[in-house]
This record gives sequence, structure tokens and C-alpha cells, in this order.
Amino acid sequence: MRLFVFLALFTLISCQSQPSSSVNQKTTSPPKTNRTPDMDSLPLDRSIADDSAIHSSPIQEPSAQPKEPKHRPAKSSTTFDLKYITGRFNQRKHPDFVRLDDRYCAYPDMYLRKEVYQAFLKMREAAKKDDIKLTIRSATRNFFTQKRIWENKWTGKKNIAGGENLAKTTKDPVKRALKILRYSAMPGSSRHHWGTDIDLNDLANSYFETGKGYKMYQWMRQNAHRFGFYQVYTAKGPLRKTGYNEERWHWTYLPTSKKILAQAKKILKDEDFKGFLGAETAPKIHIVEKYVLGINPECL
Ligand SMILES: [Zn+2]
Repeated sequence: MRLFVFLALFTLISCQSQPSSSVNQKTTSPPKTNRTPDMDSLPLDRSIADDSAIHSSPIQEPSAQPKEPKHRPAKSSTTFDLKYITGRFNQRKHPDFVRLDDRYCAYPDMYLRKEVYQAFLKMREAAKKDDIKLTIRSATRNFFTQKRIWENKWTGKKNIAGGENLAKTTKDPVKRALKILRYSAMPGSSRHHWGTDIDLNDLANSYFETGKGYKMYQWMRQNAHRFGFYQVYTAKGPLRKTGYNEERWHWTYLPTSKKILAQAKKILKDEDFKGFLGAETAPKIHIVEKYVLGINPECL
């Protein structure tokens, strides 16, 4: 009897091991990744893929065939993970970023993603032919820069526009955060983290109502889309009910920022806002829904 049981077990194990060994032989082909359709057009950075695994979308794409690395652009290497989306990297050391020519900027040492800069240069040339000068006032600002801006206002080290010291006037954390949000992005929520967005020429809407500013803004409205650029913070109204106030100077390179936003929609949560004073207000403010997604519908 014991011999029979032993033989029966042996036969069973042998049968089960047979198919699995043939599967093992098949896995010499490249393993499938859990990249999403949106990310399929993006290059995969194997060096940070593991690091970002916990933030990757759980959605599997079984029909997607693994692509050979040689078909991907050689230099680009970004996975738009939570670290990237919330600006926790140094743009000066990131392989997808390039330092801008100081001649095109209001200040030195500015950076953008390479494809964004190429598109900007083409737009700048076209504008120049129409006697319009485009100057970048601000480009990439990472989390750590935004944290400094935010906390200076949070602590009252710097007054907000209108001369108000929030540490003295506004004790309630949510109210204080909402006041800062009128003028500055919460760290982790700024599109300037992404290397896709730029501020052009002036940081006051009134500048764009007369003279050179008016001419430039009208040109941008008519032509920027030809180069991939769109105004993110259009006037609030039925089409855009929430979010940062109108910014006629802030433009995004949509071909890339749309991919980053698609990832943000999947993985960015209010609870991910951490590491700065007042971060606990993010879920109460619904920072993702109201601000990150409170943009020109064309950019969603
Ligand atoms: Zn801006």
C-alpha cells in the first residue's frame, strides 16, 4: 500500500513538473513588464524601475509585446513614477533635462526636458519672425525649491502678495494653505516639477492686456499649439471651476505633460503630499482633484 502511494505521488509530481520545465525554457525571452499603455511610448529606465515599482500602475497589459531596448530613444530614460511627478529629483543631473541658453531666460541656470526645449526653440524662432520676443521667466522647479517657496509663506518669513503675514493672520492650517495656493503651488503639485511647463515674459495677467504683452499673448493663443504648447491655467469659469488662478504666462508642452498627467491620475493621491509644513492639509483641500486636475480641459 505504501509503495502504491509512493508510486502514485511520484507519478503525479513528474506530470506536474513536466509542463513547468517547458515554461521555464520559454522564459528565456524578455520578461513582460507591468508598463501601462501610456508608458509604452516612454523609455524604461531599468536603473530606477525597481525603485518605482511600488508606485507603478497595477494594470497589466498582457497583449503588449516587450520591446527591445534598441528601439527606444537612446538618451531618454524616464519612468514617470511618483518621485518624478512630485519633483523629487535634481534636474541638473537628470539625463532627460538640458540647461537652457541663458540668452532666452530671465535668470541663468534654468532647465527643461530636452524635447520641450527643442519645441520652445522652434516656437521662439517663429515668434521672432513676427517681431515677438519670448523670454522664459521660470522653467523647472523641483520639490525642494517649491518647498522653500511654500514654507517661507507658511512661516511668515515672506509675506504673500498684498503684504499679509500668514503666520500672524491665519492660524487655521487649511485656510492658510488656501491663501498660499492663490499664488503658489503646493510642493509636489506643481507642473514646474515636470520639466514641461514654462512661465513666459511676465508674471502678471495685466501685462498681457496692453502693448507688447497683449501682442505676445494673442500670438501665443493663435500659434503656440502648433508647437505643442497650451495655456494651463485659463480663466476660471464653467470650463475650469477649480485650481490655481488664471496665469497667462504659464504654458505647457502638452505632448509630454499629458503623459505625465495620465500617470498622475493613476498613482498620485492626496496622502502622497508629505515632507513640508502644512502637508496635512492636502487631503482636506483635495489637492489632486481641485488643483492638479483643475486645469484647462484641453490639457487633461
Ligand atoms: Zn508657472
